[in-house]
Amino acid sequence: MIYRGTSKKGSTRCGVCGETLKDISTRIGVCPTCVRTRPDESRIRIEKVHAESREMFGLPTRPAANPDGTECKLCFLGCRLGPSQKGYCGIRNGGRSSLRNDGRTRALLTHYYDPLPTNCVADWVCPGGTGAGFPQYAYDSGPEVGYYNLAVFFEACNFNCLYCQNWSFKKNQLSPRWTGLGTLVDAVNVNTSCICFFGGDPGPQLPFAFRLAKAAQEKRSGKILRICWETNGTMNPVWLKKMTALSLESGGCVKIDLKTWNPGTHRALCGWGNEKVLENFARVADWVSERKSPPPLVASTPLVPGYIDEDEIYGLASFIARINPDIPYALLAFAPQFLMDDSPTTSTDLARRCLEAAKRAGLTRVRLGNEHLLC
Ligand code: SF4
Ligand code: SF4
Repeated sequence: MIYRGTSKKGSTRCGVCGETLKDISTRIGVCPTCVRTRPDESRIRIEKVHAESREMFGLPTRPAANPDGTECKLCFLGCRLGPSQKGYCGIRNGGRSSLRNDGRTRALLTHYYDPLPTNCVADWVCPGGTGAGFPQYAYDSGPEVGYYNLAVFFEACNFNCLYCQNWSFKKNQLSPRWTGLGTLVDAVNVNTSCICFFGGDPGPQLPFAFRLAKAAQEKRSGKILRICWETNGTMNPVWLKKMTALSLESGGCVKIDLKTWNPGTHRALCGWGNEKVLENFARVADWVSERKSPPPLVASTPLVPGYIDEDEIYGLASFIARINPDIPYALLAFAPQFLMDDSPTTSTDLARRCLEAAKRAGLTRVRLGNEHLLC
């Protein structure tokens, strides 16, 4: 039974400090101040919520740590997989066949065509949405009407965000249906001008993504085919470097979700701290000067009411601005989902305060996405 704070007419009593507040999730049951300032007391409650939210889908509650197991080096969790032990992301186990194939020659995913310009985190700065980089990286000097993004949604993740906007993929992990490379290569056609790997997260199935990107580029040799990634940014830096290189040369971009500035809030909402995310963001930013337009790196943050406010955004935006103030930053209106379906939607007032905070921190390119969700 998932822990709930005490709820009373739209208000919730924090399980740590006892204060009654609006806008906090009954499922998390700990107020934003306590997740930031009393992390040890908050952690016990929050880890229980995360564990129960994973057991529902048959997912491990902790990364595999078998000392004699095979190490997976794809992401920061570094699972050590015994023969029948599943990785935290749920993709592979330590069996030989699984290690050789799962997330490599076959993947858990769905795919669809997204007509351009599309509602993408980076559509306001990218070749598909604006014509940036025409004619080298775009078919048109404006939005690429008539072309499509091949959206590849990987159905696994190494985070456990309690507000996940795409959480229904977890249901598919209960009875996995694998897809082979050929299906996806066949889906690339003359109207495909970009491929976006997202999810879930592409991290746990990166070998498959690279095989697909390579085969697709061979099929469309000499044509524009941008490779983009939308990710929580916690993959092994070796893979991150390869991803960035592929996006740079193809006209695509790496979109990294910076979910919170405070590590305690990050742990509460996503199950893990944000240190690796910020380190990897800075790594990709080292490459930003290699291609002025279109920008190779874009940041985004969902505005989760109660937990993400102007102070969080100011912290994140200042971090980005210290690296490079011209990195585009998209703030995203939030819809109540998954275990935080009792949270309110982002308000217009919160969005305005956060936008102002991001600009005040020195960023030159900030925008609000998903405006239709604002209340
Ligand atoms: S990709 Fe999956 S199996 Fe590999 S380390 Fe990360 S969570 Fe574990
Ligand atoms: S996938 Fe890349 S190129 Fe295509 S719309 Fe999104 S950011 Fe633009």
